Amino acid sequence: MAQKDKLTTASGAPVADDLNSVTAGPRGPVLLQDVHLMEKLAHFNRERIPERVVHAKGAGAFGTFECTADMSKYTRAKFLSQAGQKTEVLARFSTVGGEKGSADAARDPRGFAIKFYTAEGNYDMTGNNTPVFFIRDPLKFPDFIHTQKRDPATNAPDPDMFWDFLSLTPESIHQVTILFSDRGTPRSYRHMNGYSSHTFKWYNAQGEYFWVQYHFKTAQGIRNLTREEAVRQSGQAPNHATTDLYDTIAAGDLPAWRVCVQIMPSEAAKTYRWNIFDITKVWPHEDYPLIEIGRMTLNRNPSNYFAEIEQAAFSPGNFVPGIAASPDKMLQARVMSYHDAHIYRLGTNYQLLPVNAPRACQAATYQRDGHMRLGDNGGGGPNYWPNSMGGPAPDASFAEPPIDLEGPAARHPQDLTDDDFFQPGELYRRVMSDTDREHLVGNIVAHLGGAMKRIQLRQTALFFKADSDYGRRVAEGLGLDVAEVEGLAAMSQADRVKATAK
Ligand code: NDP
Repeated sequence: MAQKDKLTTASGAPVADDLNSVTAGPRGPVLLQDVHLMEKLAHFNRERIPERVVHAKGAGAFGTFECTADMSKYTRAKFLSQAGQKTEVLARFSTVGGEKGSADAARDPRGFAIKFYTAEGNYDMTGNNTPVFFIRDPLKFPDFIHTQKRDPATNAPDPDMFWDFLSLTPESIHQVTILFSDRGTPRSYRHMNGYSSHTFKWYNAQGEYFWVQYHFKTAQGIRNLTREEAVRQSGQAPNHATTDLYDTIAAGDLPAWRVCVQIMPSEAAKTYRWNIFDITKVWPHEDYPLIEIGRMTLNRNPSNYFAEIEQAAFSPGNFVPGIAASPDKMLQARVMSYHDAHIYRLGTNYQLLPVNAPRACQAATYQRDGHMRLGDNGGGGPNYWPNSMGGPAPDASFAEPPIDLEGPAARHPQDLTDDDFFQPGELYRRVMSDTDREHLVGNIVAHLGGAMKRIQLRQTALFFKADSDYGRRVAEGLGLDVAEVEGLAAMSQADRVKATAK
């Protein structure tokens, strides 16, 4: 038992004095034999671990997911099989591009990651507060993130690199439209929705499978900051969303989300208008209405931020029986990449850290050894499979139903079509209010105005393609020639790029 009132070294020896180093005489130099001092300084030098390359700045809390509907018709996941069933969760919310010290009010998507500690293993839903994403091929991801970070020469964010890439990546237009609406600066982590963005596969005990998208609808209502409020908040209270989450939970004002899904029969995907594995698209609610499956309530702050939030490791590859990946190209890469990032950041045994280890069941693997191996490392049990020594055995009853995949192995371009502009156009025309549109245009003009004129023209043509009023208003705000923008919008992307090359 740790005696918390007695200071010790890390190896448990009592410390006699923690204010005065051992020196040769009262004015003499420090002696190397002061192992307590050496240990203290050496550990201090190593306090930092690599921050996440993306989603570095975040806040989190624990809570409960209560299932409100029996979903066993669609998924064999036990935690979704009975109304009233409760599962412990950990939520982490974050900005994406900024470093660990950046402001919470930055215009950026917000990460929305939930770890469900289920009795069949930890299930992670690693989404965003936006239902779509900028790109649909993972090969573009590192480049895209580079453009949101610092310019290699100036070491400052650069509107040219930001908009150059986006205007050369027109499939980003849907996400750009959401990002530059006031939803790009949520008032707090409590006042935003969360989305899986990807399509996932659910399968039931009979081996039938379905495609699903998750929606976490805030019970606090959507509330956003205006551009001016966000700028002010960034200066005055750069940790405002972090503090807001902590303080409201501490005060007992518990944030909650209504958890819903859209469910599509597997066959329907083949003929549906939208490619449901393209993360730049949503499934219109009219076609696939939201079905409520539960409620998530956050009720407990971490007692130690580093142990429980900084070291929290979410992965879209953490599935449980009944939930699996879809062929979404971005998801396929994330399933590998998150795990890989955690191994780099936290070490090969990161899943043994208390916050990441299963809580409602026990892991039983043949993984052994490695840096910072906690626990008994499998003790004296067998470290290989197959074995006849009583080691844990696979259970074929958990096999996922297969899906058919075929086609030539090649780098298949996902050509840009007019359909890529339809949903952002719908958002602008039909969903946004007059005020939303006014703020959207103002937010774009304030940011895009810092980029070169030829990049402004190329990007504004994309807004025009989504909706002519949208493009015209951005053009006017930037002082561009509307006819020139309209002409660029009428071109193919290849011609538009040529026309704006210099
Ligand atoms: P609906 O009219 O049924 O739903 C509109 C959706 O848009 C609601 O979910 C609403 O969220 C959300 N919304 C409102 N303002 C914004 C904004 N500024 N940025 C992002 N989302 C916003 O429409 P459809 O399902 O037919 O979709 C129309 C368009 O709405 C889509 O093209 C897409 O751009 C957007 N959208 C659609 C979603 C979907 O899953 N179908 C999800 C989110 C956005 P809330 O109800 O929480 O206010």
